[in-house]
Amino acid sequence: MTSPLLQVRDLHKHFPVGSKGLFGRPAQMLRAVDGISFDVHPGETLGLVGESGCGKSTCARTIVGLHEPTAGTVMYEGAEISGLSRKERAPYRRKIQMIFQDPYASLDPRQTVASILAEPLKIHYLAKPRERRLHAMQLLDAVGLNPRHIHRFPHEFSGGQRQRIGVARALAMEPDLIICDEPVSALDVSIQAQVVNLLEELQERFGLSYLFIAHDLAVVRHICDRIAVMYLGKIVEIAERDELFENPQHPYTRALLSAVPHPDPKIERTRERIVLEGDVPSPLDPPSGCRFHPRCVERGRVTGDRCVHEEPALGARSACHLPESADAPSPAAHT
Ligand code: SF4
Repeated sequence: MTSPLLQVRDLHKHFPVGSKGLFGRPAQMLRAVDGISFDVHPGETLGLVGESGCGKSTCARTIVGLHEPTAGTVMYEGAEISGLSRKERAPYRRKIQMIFQDPYASLDPRQTVASILAEPLKIHYLAKPRERRLHAMQLLDAVGLNPRHIHRFPHEFSGGQRQRIGVARALAMEPDLIICDEPVSALDVSIQAQVVNLLEELQERFGLSYLFIAHDLAVVRHICDRIAVMYLGKIVEIAERDELFENPQHPYTRALLSAVPHPDPKIERTRERIVLEGDVPSPLDPPSGCRFHPRCVERGRVTGDRCVHEEPALGARSACHLPESADAPSPAAHT
């Protein structure tokens, strides 16, 4: 296997919450990301999934430098990029781009598409002034938009088209890695498929790698090569896509997969749903031992109080005290 493009090691991002008390210390710490590690290889799409609030987006924002990590490292092509100053980080900022969930909020409504796309070219000296317009038109063409619409404003485009503009803006920097933070969740289902297909085409054409953050497992199954499942700031399982869907190991992964409807009505009727009790606990005060233990329906299979007191390490695939099994129960939705 090739060397990883991105290496994330024991990454933590905690946020102080509440007024400062004795010795100026914050009242509490919100442990949004609490020790996660993974690699993204060239040309690969790694999915990062989990319920909202599990820390996926904070992880993305910490990787691109929008947050300073509390601990841990982010390495790009073997060089550490976490903790670099703004100036030191500049060459890497070009190489790692981000696409956001809400394309409208991420595009300046007062700028035309021409200005939106020309700006990164100008900042990073990627094209001479007279070439920028042509370059911007080529970018629009690459994302399936009409290059003649270059002088329109974002509000003159539909939601799906605006997301294409967001993709074009990311592409303008000629990145190697694009972090896609829920890029299709705000779009209609029919438009979602078009944007996902576009991302696949661009990956093929430009040799891109993606870190694809989503909560919709059907989308993740379509686009990702490997998938990491997050729960309350931790990765609880990481595996190749087909292995994960066909033989999920962690009880939380099994519950998530059991909630995905099956397109075949016959299988859908017999689909066994694992209903998780209660809400996701607060990252301000995560449960002891295994963070999933208050909601885990399989906890009784582990002897004694281990799940309550002992935090399971992420093994070959999953972080659970249950032994990994070649024939773990797979939700009916994926048989
Ligand atoms: Fe469930 Fe225990 Fe495994 Fe946690 S360690 S997922 S509580 S069985």
